[in-house]
Amino acid sequence: MSINSNLKSILKTHEGFQYTLIAVSKNHPASSVLEAYQAGQRDFGENKVQEMTEKLESLPKDIRWHMIGHLQRNKVKYIAPYVHLIHSVDSLKLLQEINKEASKNNRTINCLLQIHIASEETKFGLSPEEVHELLNSYEFKALANIRIIGLMGMASNTEDQNLVRQEFKLLKNLFEELKSTFKSDKIEMEELSMGMSGDAAIALEEGSTMIRVGTAIFGTRVY
Ligand SMILES: *Cc1c(COP(=O)(O)O)cnc(C)c1O
Repeated sequence: MSINSNLKSILKTHEGFQYTLIAVSKNHPASSVLEAYQAGQRDFGENKVQEMTEKLESLPKDIRWHMIGHLQRNKVKYIAPYVHLIHSVDSLKLLQEINKEASKNNRTINCLLQIHIASEETKFGLSPEEVHELLNSYEFKALANIRIIGLMGMASNTEDQNLVRQEFKLLKNLFEELKSTFKSDKIEMEELSMGMSGDAAIALEEGSTMIRVGTAIFGTRVY
C-alpha cells in the first residue's frame, strides 16, 4: 500500500467526523513526509525535537508541525520559532519555558495539556487535580505568550476496547468540564487530541477532534 492510498483509506474510514488528521512521521524519512504532503496532508507530528527540526529544513514551509512527544525544557528553543501546536505539555515549568521562548520569537504558542488517562504507570501526563491546580495558579496567569487550546491523552495499549473507550470518555468529560469552568484570553478549550492508528475510530466516537496516526499511514517504524 502507498502512503497516498493509506491516507485516502483513513479519510474514508472516518468520513462524517469533523477532525484534524495528524500524520505522525517519527522514524520515517522526509521523503515519506513529502509523499504525504503531495497527497494533500499538511499536519505532521513528531516526538523528537531534533528529528522534527531536521525534517523541517528540506520540506515545504506550509507544513504545520505538531510536537507530540515528551518535551525537555532545554529543547524548547529549537522548535519555538515554528511549531504549530505542542500536544505534550505536562508541567507548569515546561509551560513557563515555552512562554519564554515564544516571547523571544514574538509569537504566541498554542499548547495542549497532556492528561494521564491510561491505567499503565509509564505514560506521561497530568492528573485532573493537577490540571485544575495549574490553570488556577498565579504563575500560569502571568504567562502572556502561550495559549491552552485543549487536551491530549493516550489510552492504554491494550486489546480491551472497553477500557480504551472508558479512558477516552474520562478525558472527554474532563475536557467538557474545563471548557465550562475556564475561559479567558489564555484558555480556550477547542481541541481534544486523542486516538492513534489502533484506536482512532473509538476516539472519534468519543469526541476526539485530532487523531495522531503514524503506522496506518507510513507503515511499521524501523528503529
Ligand atoms: C507514535 C505516536 C503516535 C502514533 O502511533 P501509531 O500507533 O503509529 O499511529 C501517536 N501519538 C503519540 C504521542 C505517539 O508518540
